[in-house]
Amino acid sequence: MPIYEYACTACGHQLEVIQKMSDPVLLTCPACNTDQLQKLISAAGFRLKGSGWYETDFKGGQKPAAKEAPSPACGTGACPACVSSTD
Ligand SMILES: [Zn+2]
Repeated sequence: MPIYEYACTACGHQLEVIQKMSDPVLLTCPACNTDQLQKLISAAGFRLKGSGWYETDFKGGQKPAAKEAPSPACGTGACPACVSSTD
């Protein structure tokens, strides 16, 4: 079962809770009793560390050169796609 980390935005209290995926998200802080609990993404039960998938996607905003897909050849030889494929 995954361990979820929560932090209270009202008093700063933090706690770890073992929950099932299907369990409802906790809301009420056991320390100050307000509904200010926030689930932390960095919960120990998750294995985001080291994957870096989101970093590589956005780093430098550089996308791999997107090849412009040619329109499918129409077969008549009249369009650029036909010309380049039959030549
Ligand atoms: Zn609190």
